[in-house]
Amino acid sequence: MNYIDGKWIKDASTGKTFKSINPANKDEVLGEFPLSGKEEVELAVASAKKAQKEWKRIPAPERGKILFNIARLMEKDKEKLAETITKEMGKTFKESLGEVQISIDMVYYSAGEGRRLIGETVPSEKRDKYIVYFREPVGIAGIITPWNFPLLLPVRKIMPALIAGNTVVFKPSRETPLVAQQFVNLLEEAGLPLGVINLIQGSGESAGMEIVRHPDVGVISFTGSVETGRKIGAICGEQIKKVGLELGGKNPVIVLEDADLELALDGCVSGAYGATGQKCTAASRIIVEEKIYDEFVDRFIERVRKIKVGDGMDKETDMGPLVSESQLDKVKYYVEVGIKEGAKLSYGGNVLDSGKFSKGFFYEPTVFTDVTPDMRIAKEEIFGPVVCIMKAKDFDSAIEIANSTEYGLSASIYTKDLKKSFKAMELLESGVVYINAPPTGAEIQGPFGGVKASGNGEREQGTTSIDLFTEWKTVFIVLG
Ligand code: NAD
Repeated sequence: MNYIDGKWIKDASTGKTFKSINPANKDEVLGEFPLSGKEEVELAVASAKKAQKEWKRIPAPERGKILFNIARLMEKDKEKLAETITKEMGKTFKESLGEVQISIDMVYYSAGEGRRLIGETVPSEKRDKYIVYFREPVGIAGIITPWNFPLLLPVRKIMPALIAGNTVVFKPSRETPLVAQQFVNLLEEAGLPLGVINLIQGSGESAGMEIVRHPDVGVISFTGSVETGRKIGAICGEQIKKVGLELGGKNPVIVLEDADLELALDGCVSGAYGATGQKCTAASRIIVEEKIYDEFVDRFIERVRKIKVGDGMDKETDMGPLVSESQLDKVKYYVEVGIKEGAKLSYGGNVLDSGKFSKGFFYEPTVFTDVTPDMRIAKEEIFGPVVCIMKAKDFDSAIEIANSTEYGLSASIYTKDLKKSFKAMELLESGVVYINAPPTGAEIQGPFGGVKASGNGEREQGTTSIDLFTEWKTVFIVLG
């Protein structure tokens, strides 16, 4: 359903709908949703515009109280939300519980911002003159999110937008409309006034684009592919509209010869195959120093063999299905590309479609070795359970390989050498760097975002999360 001006609306003016299905069992339909268009976006923006006038005047600590309610309701519904995430996009129930917990942390963090939202004062060069500056909300925030973290990504955007005094028009991915609906239900229950949050279900090309183009929407916060990010960024550029772009990644993990190998192997396996590799921060390139390369590859594959693929709701499952048929096709395509390019397919490389796998989009965990930086599989985002292992002569060449893609989201290095870890911190072209941990996962109090094609410089989470959703106003006060 859509949620516009405080009302749940089943139908769209297009008369069309779309279905949400379980990727572990495509016969299981989780719901049917309106395929919205211009008309719904117009109504949602009008409602957000009306509501913003009052919402921004509510003192921020009071707005914070509603956010605290949201966090408490999410805690109560933790298992229900996690189950919907698993059923709608496939990650394991344990991973979904993790996503819900981080989302709750983010809501509490943003709620607390209601008592900070700090402004500043600087001394004037004149007597009896004061200079103060403080944050004001932008107005209406258009929030457009992908399916791979269907709760966390909306939360990471919507909560800072709300606490700063913006109202919201939210369009989730077509793959995960039910998670979005459950979440907005909780926002309503927590006491958000009419029109402060509006949910529009539909496709990116119609509903999404209408939100981006709408002149009354003052800021767009988008997470998704580079391709879509470029289109959205271009429109916002034309309209001089604020925009946050969180895009793809091709995240490197460097394993140096002095690394704690057990720790590195654990991190690389979880980093590569967690959420079936469908993470913007997935460890997709593992760059291993020459001397330990063969041992690393053998021990890595030994672990990969033990990964149990299955329905994410099954307790035994380590890795769930891909989110959709098109994502499965993309993985199949890139595995063919890798083989043609001359990389060595050392493990996996097959669709799983018989027996218990017959109704879902399952693929084996897959390992390419002897991958070189010029290969497409080493440069392009696959977004699936496929890892590329690459050999590096030494530390310097490992850094060079790590920096050799257009992306720069998250990178990691395993080493016990303090000097090399500090050098890596400086040299890695990446918005996020991990030392002795996989590139995935972040604590919400630390800023998150990418450099190069992975983002346009905005940072979500932490103290920086409100920057996109606020404008500074500077006031000069002359008393004499
Ligand atoms: P996508 O770009 O296809 O879609 C993302 C969202 O944008 C969806 O809601 C979609 O409906 C909408 N959309 C699509 N075309 C649009 C258009 N022309 N105008 C407006 N909206 C449009 O991405 P996806 O396949 O859903 O997600 C996977 C991508 O997201 C990967 O590239 C991944 O790396 C990236 N991602 C990045 C981060 C990050 O924080 N940097 C986090 C998660 C995912």
